[in-house]
Amino acid sequence: MLLEVRDLHVEFHTRDGVARAVNGVSYAVEAGETLAVLGESGSGKSVTAQAVMGILDMPPGRITAGEVLFEGRDLLKLKEEERRKVRGAEMAMIFQDALSSLNPVLTVGDQLGEMFTVHRGMSRKDARAKAVELMDRVRIPAARERVRQYPHQFSGGMRQRIMIAMAMALEPKLIIADEPTTALDVTVQAQVMELLAELQREFRMGLILITHDLGVVADVADKIAVMYAGRIVESAPVHDIYKAPAHPYTRGLLDSIPRLDQKGRELYAIKGLPPNLTRIPPGCAFHPRCPMAQEVCRTDVPPLYDVTESDAERGSACHFWRECLHG
Ligand code: SF4
Ligand code: MG
Repeated sequence: MLLEVRDLHVEFHTRDGVARAVNGVSYAVEAGETLAVLGESGSGKSVTAQAVMGILDMPPGRITAGEVLFEGRDLLKLKEEERRKVRGAEMAMIFQDALSSLNPVLTVGDQLGEMFTVHRGMSRKDARAKAVELMDRVRIPAARERVRQYPHQFSGGMRQRIMIAMAMALEPKLIIADEPTTALDVTVQAQVMELLAELQREFRMGLILITHDLGVVADVADKIAVMYAGRIVESAPVHDIYKAPAHPYTRGLLDSIPRLDQKGRELYAIKGLPPNLTRIPPGCAFHPRCPMAQEVCRTDVPPLYDVTESDAERGSACHFWRECLHG
């Protein structure tokens, strides 16, 4: 297994009290596989990813339990210096906002080239050639000229391609993309997502795709983990989820995707808001918003039930997963 997160817990100390951002998350990604992690903001999906990348464990955030096994090694036990070597070379991250992730006063060529001068000890000239090659690879037109331009001279979509090029530069085994297309308009979104999926296949990388939008993952993900209030509430192969969700929250997310064949139909929205993480509701954290909630949901935390019906492993943290799946 390339990456295995086991029973991860992360807390934040806030003025309101302890925010329990991640409460026992486990997931795994193989080489060449894409895992989509889905949920509204505040579900813990980004925080989990930051813990995996090792860019989180400093105040106010704290990893209180769990393991992050990368090719069998627990990254949480590494010294910061060893950790830094893993970051960039073996795993890289792509963020939503390319403009704030790129350095505004360096040309794109210098930033891409730096990956090779710093990490690979290349000469500036060779590094520049590599930068052009990467820009070609992510299909930025006129790479040879544009390599001299600054981030603000590129469109949002092109900037996100540059971010992908940066992440890919050292040919990492794992890429974590956190809402990589959220800031882009719909057509550009699809192009960037397609590029990412294509590179992922070509290099057989593991990809964790974090998104709040179930609509963008159908074509690219192999499996999905749905998060709510710091837990995984459903995990399944992607087509199983689209066929029939086994958790009311997933059903709500599916029903709120706009569909071409149902134009004019009023779009469903899950009522209410995700909970404040300093005061997660008892029992099933989703119960105040759940249309299927019963008395037991207010008191008993649902474990991740094994709901496997075919070969692929599948889990749902709902007491009434059968009713949801078959209802
Ligand atoms: Fe809804 Fe109860 Fe299932 Fe939670 S356990 S999702 S409240 S039915
Ligand atoms: Mg986020």
